[in-house]
Amino acid sequence: MENSKRKKVAVIGAGLGGISAAISLAQEGYEVDVYEKNDKIGGKLNVLTEQGYSFDLGPSILTLPHIFERLFERSGRKSEDYFTIRPLRPHWRNFFEDGTVVDLYPEKDLMAREAEKVGEEPGRVEAFLDYCGGLYDLVDRGYFQQGLDTSREFREFYGLTNFLQFDLFRTMHGSVARHLTSRYLRDVFDFFIKYVGSSAYDAPAFMNCLPAIQFRYDLWYVDGGMYNIARGLLRLMDEIGIRVHLNSEVSEIRTAESRVTELIFGNGSTVQADIVVSNMEVIPVYRDLLHEGPQFLHSLRRFEPTCSGLVIDLGLDTQYPQLAHHNFFFSGNQREHFKSVFHKRVLPEDPTIYLVAASKTDPTVAPPGCDCLKILPHIPHIVPERPLAVADYVRLKERILDKLESMGLKDLRKHVVFEHFWTPLDIEREYRSNMGSIYGVVTDRFKNFAFKAPKQSTKYSNLFFVGGSVNPGGGMPMVVQCGQNVCRRVLEWDVS
Ligand SMILES: Cc1cc2nc3c(=O)[nH]c(=O)nc-3n(C[C@H](O)[C@H](O)[C@H](O)COP(=O)(O)OP(=O)(O)OC[C@H]3O[C@@H](n4cnc5c(N)ncnc54)[C@H](O)[C@@H]3O)c2cc1C
Repeated sequence: MENSKRKKVAVIGAGLGGISAAISLAQEGYEVDVYEKNDKIGGKLNVLTEQGYSFDLGPSILTLPHIFERLFERSGRKSEDYFTIRPLRPHWRNFFEDGTVVDLYPEKDLMAREAEKVGEEPGRVEAFLDYCGGLYDLVDRGYFQQGLDTSREFREFYGLTNFLQFDLFRTMHGSVARHLTSRYLRDVFDFFIKYVGSSAYDAPAFMNCLPAIQFRYDLWYVDGGMYNIARGLLRLMDEIGIRVHLNSEVSEIRTAESRVTELIFGNGSTVQADIVVSNMEVIPVYRDLLHEGPQFLHSLRRFEPTCSGLVIDLGLDTQYPQLAHHNFFFSGNQREHFKSVFHKRVLPEDPTIYLVAASKTDPTVAPPGCDCLKILPHIPHIVPERPLAVADYVRLKERILDKLESMGLKDLRKHVVFEHFWTPLDIEREYRSNMGSIYGVVTDRFKNFAFKAPKQSTKYSNLFFVGGSVNPGGGMPMVVQCGQNVCRRVLEWDVS
């Protein structure tokens, strides 16, 4: 162990997963350097500030903040000295095409009132959330906390009795529909799958652990905007001696036998490391940095990317009082939305739309009297055989603005004073994510039974992966958890 503590670790990419791994490994005494292609850290946790508006270009919902807290605690610090958070009410506001509006609250009495508004018996919602809580406890105990990677590790940890509690034979939607009768609440709880960019009709039922994350541990906003998490983590990295190299894109990884030995950068410079942790996704690393052959790449095809997204940021000269901080404008036919995105892989005619108006709670993100909106429909990842042009995405953007105007945001277009727009092509270019994926690897019962790639390379023993393409998958808290789990894997391997 003493020996291992002087070893050099190179982390490729400063997304949240890479940062979490870097901090965890530095806390164990490794010498850590982080190489990031962009000119700032955070990866998809990104910010755009223009004309007095500040947009979270990536994540806008913080859950499970205690997972972040651990990174600070292990260095004897408190996250509240680096960034501050507050819970939001309501959690989400949900708009339907027939004018129905229903809010989500973690308080039982408030949620019961909302359930009654859409004809649902409150007891059914409570029973559903209890079921979700049971799944969360089960999944958390092994898959999240222990960082289980393979079906063998699952079998050994859970044993047959616990395994059956995973509600194995249903889809996520199947279990939502079994518990709830209101078509509105069915659509809402199906859409919790947004947290991992997959389809409720393809994801296994145990993904109903997602509502428990929000209802039990609350939904949080970071004062001043989500990017303050990245700023706080940068400070922590600096304080504990991690060197962060920006504008440093790794273009190749050299190997010798079954180990990786050296990183090569775009400008030709090289760096040697004892251990490499890649926050670049698994498939792009094997394909573009290691140049693995078609047979090996074919073996990774089950780690298909999640959906991508159209990121539309609008600075307005007015406010829409009917909006909450987080809003969903539901598709008239959500099953068809999921089918278009995940099966037909075409731009949905009528997508469910997520709309964040952080200006509802934070006056610092827009000029006085104005809203700043981030609008994010989930859309298919890039399909190389059927590439879309920017004009195709622009047409979808116009359909989305039509839908929002017809669902109550009257004259939205007339109030836009600033606009920014990112397609899957921009997302792929910016973060090198696989086909513009926004959450890493898809969660699909048949393709991978929710397993993502393992954290340790099956080809090169000193190469590890962190982030949305490895277990437990995408979402801010999950990739931060993953960074902590990767550190444990490195330690186990290093002493063996
Ligand atoms: C629009 C959008 C909305 C989202 N909303 C939410 C939300 O509300 N809540 C939530 O929890 N999650 C949300 N997510 C998901 C969340 O942002 C991601 O799951 C998480 O931030 C991904 O972290 P990661 O560690 O996997 O890496 P990434 O953020 O993908 O970072 C990888 C880093 O590696 C760098 N890199 C890649 N290749 C190289 C290379 N060759 N050399 C050097 N550097 C390289 C990239 O530039 C990048 O900085 C959202 C994502 C998006 C895009």
